[in-house]
Amino acid sequence: MTAPMLEARGVRKSFGATEVLRGIDLTVERGQVACILGPSGSGKSTFLRCINHLEKMSAGRITVDGRLVGYREGAGVLHELSRTELARQRRDIGMVFQRFNLFPHLDVLGNIMAAPTLVRREPAAEARAYALELLDMVDLAGKASAYPAQLSGGQQQRVAIARALAMRPSLMLFDEPTSALDPELVGEVLAVMKRLAAAGMTMVVVTHELGFAREAADRVVFMDQGRILEEGPTAETLEHPRHERLRAFLARVL
Ligand code: ADP
Ligand code: MG
Repeated sequence: MTAPMLEARGVRKSFGATEVLRGIDLTVERGQVACILGPSGSGKSTFLRCINHLEKMSAGRITVDGRLVGYREGAGVLHELSRTELARQRRDIGMVFQRFNLFPHLDVLGNIMAAPTLVRREPAAEARAYALELLDMVDLAGKASAYPAQLSGGQQQRVAIARALAMRPSLMLFDEPTSALDPELVGEVLAVMKRLAAAGMTMVVVTHELGFAREAADRVVFMDQGRILEEGPTAETLEHPRHERLRAFLARVL
């Protein structure tokens, strides 16, 4: 049996005296899409950041593709990964943030090719061919030599998705990828994400876009005050929420 793509067990995180993650257990199988919903401050971003060790957990463990995140086990003891080992591990996890953070001085192709050529040392021709393929996938085939400032927010976010995919990750994390966009640009980004989901990518998506969740998510996870209050298959969970707090949340975002 193969390991789940993502397995989090008892993940806790404190900032000083404040515990913002209070024991998160979550399993995402290969090819599944999980949508995380929850009010602001419930710990969604912190949890995503723990998955690629941008944030160090206070307790618990996370495995991605069967490998422990941030640590290696030796003689029954956990050793923290070195910076190099950590960087290598992070390559398998793509992340897309609310803000696109493209390199302003590089054109679109340069943005997508930067990490594969500099970090993965892919030959330029190969990285370029794959970048063009990815640009096509995000509906930006004509924009290879445009600079970020010449693109709309929706186009920039689609470049950011292509850039993350260029590292050939096995897991993609999205942290409210459309919440900084003008409403008319949200659809084009969600369309690309749906395409990616349909192509079999394993995805964890923090979003308030219930339409996306309904169409693309296998399961929905509702976080509240640092815990998973409720989770389940998408339709069932959205249509028949068991907890009053999820019912209230859904009534607000609808
Ligand atoms: P969400 O993404 O669900 O809105 P976050 O994970 O961003 O929630 O934040 C959860 C809680 O943790 C919030 O109360 C936030 O203020 C706190 N928090 C997040 N990052 C830090 C940090 N670096 N230092 C202190 N508190 C933090
Ligand atoms: Mg957040």
